[in-house]
Amino acid sequence: MLTLLQPCTERITPVEHKPTHDRAPEDLALGTPLWLRDDLVEILGKEQVHSRVIDLVKYATDASPYRMFPKVVVTPRTVDEVAKIFTYAQEKRLSVTIRSAGSSLSGQSQGDGILIDARKHWVGTKVEDGGKRLRVRPGTVLFRANLALHPYGYRLGPDPASSGVATVGGVIANNASGMCCGTIENSYKTLESISFLLPSGTHINTADSEAENQFNLAEPDLAAGLMEIKAEIDRDEALAARLKKKYSIKNTTGYHMGAFLDESTPLGIFRKLLVGSEGTLAFISEGVFETVPDDKFRLTAFLVFPDMHSACAAVAPFIAHGAVAAELSDRGCLRAVEGKPGVPDRWKRLPGEATALLVEFREPSPVRLKEAAAAAQSVLDGLELLEKAEFTQDPHLAAQYWTIRSGLLPSIGGARPSGTSLILEDVCFPPDKLAHGALDLQKLFPRHGYGQFTFWDYFRRAFEYNRGIRIDHFLLLPEVAKRLLKCEIDRTPRAEEKPLDHTPIVIEIV
Ligand SMILES: Cc1cc2nc3c(=O)[nH]c(=O)nc-3n(C[C@H](O)[C@H](O)[C@H](O)COP(=O)(O)OP(=O)(O)OC[C@H]3O[C@@H](n4cnc5c(N)ncnc54)[C@H](O)[C@@H]3O)c2cc1C
Repeated sequence: MLTLLQPCTERITPVEHKPTHDRAPEDLALGTPLWLRDDLVEILGKEQVHSRVIDLVKYATDASPYRMFPKVVVTPRTVDEVAKIFTYAQEKRLSVTIRSAGSSLSGQSQGDGILIDARKHWVGTKVEDGGKRLRVRPGTVLFRANLALHPYGYRLGPDPASSGVATVGGVIANNASGMCCGTIENSYKTLESISFLLPSGTHINTADSEAENQFNLAEPDLAAGLMEIKAEIDRDEALAARLKKKYSIKNTTGYHMGAFLDESTPLGIFRKLLVGSEGTLAFISEGVFETVPDDKFRLTAFLVFPDMHSACAAVAPFIAHGAVAAELSDRGCLRAVEGKPGVPDRWKRLPGEATALLVEFREPSPVRLKEAAAAAQSVLDGLELLEKAEFTQDPHLAAQYWTIRSGLLPSIGGARPSGTSLILEDVCFPPDKLAHGALDLQKLFPRHGYGQFTFWDYFRRAFEYNRGIRIDHFLLLPEVAKRLLKCEIDRTPRAEEKPLDHTPIVIEIV
């Protein structure tokens, strides 16, 4: 790596942490190997090949905690050019990775061979059927796609919190979903047809009447293999039941095996496997979505409950009364947004088990909104909350609530101690097991040494950013330890004005 591109991490890292080594390998200094650059320039033209060291460093990082340097970055303009890259890579035995906005959190848009930028030349939308369908190219940012649909009163179903940057191709390939989409409005359910290019060069548009035949003829082994897997699953009742259960809740781990139960033909299965395939099966060149109504009349509330159980118990009644979102934030989440715009200062003093729910109703008309308001109020009346709350129709206040909720990930990322990484995983539970699941998860954190501090320095907003140390402990004789019911760090006093730097630990012994 040239000195010019080597940041001096010593100067930007807080003194108490060792800087993370950020140096790129020496052999990257001259950029892409010349033979590879020249071959690709011949295939794609100079403009579409990005071979300088700065290009490789730039594309080595995405929103995940990992870093992998590609050998070269290419920006193909057509399906034909992508096909040529696939053929060339197979000849040279190089890996190909497709990357769009790079907002994935698990490193799936990084590669160490040829990196295809599927965003630059792949933007565009066409509203069809008065907004009921959207034809969209994969590099289109989700927010832009929704902007095209906005005048028609529709939107796309998938709603990841990253919709301001994530592209439709990335959303399909990750089966990304968000706070209202669930397993009903995701790409798996709402993608009507898809055009894709296989590594072999076969290009299929599933909307074509001849598509099934074309697929079977061009890819007989693939088609036969898919049907063999389907037959195996169909024969095995226990496996089929397990798959059904797995996909009844959000599950984006691995390929969407539910496709083998939901579809009966090779192309039908493959089309559904593409959703969530993370760029491993084919290049997606276009999608046509069935859109969902973008109901404008909304009621939103941010409810703070005394504990996880009471918050989770409220989810089912709200959903049963038509709420489209019931987003849970535990005490750790609320702590991560302390001090952010719109976050009340009093939340610093919430008890250790406080849990919040962001609940929203979306309705197509004022009449329906009135009905929803009555239903929401009936649920609200039966709740025991730490703060008085009401449903608002004020879009600014609602936007503020959503900003708090959507900003959780960046806030948590920003609050982590320097030199550590943020790893994010979705963990799904059936609704009736939510409270137990969430509480069990919370128990795992201290067991593995995460974030249970009793001392925070007065400097550099250490408390707000939760940069602390676990100094205080209770030591119990074994016979007393057996009677220990609960052990909890009470952060409340540390959040008060002019606090001590330590905070108490409270234990309950029977
Ligand atoms: C702050 C933040 C919030 C987030 N919130 C959510 C959330 O609420 N829900 C959620 O599900 N995710 C969320 N994510 C993760 C991520 O934003 C989404 O999964 C998003 O859909 C990725 O889109 P992208 O354009 O960035 O794709 P990339 O990260 O570039 O790529 C994603 C995958 O798609 C493949 N791919 C991209 N384009 C194509 C193509 N044309 N053909 C074939 N394969 C392709 C890539 O190979 C890769 O495997 C969040 C991320 C961040 C940083």
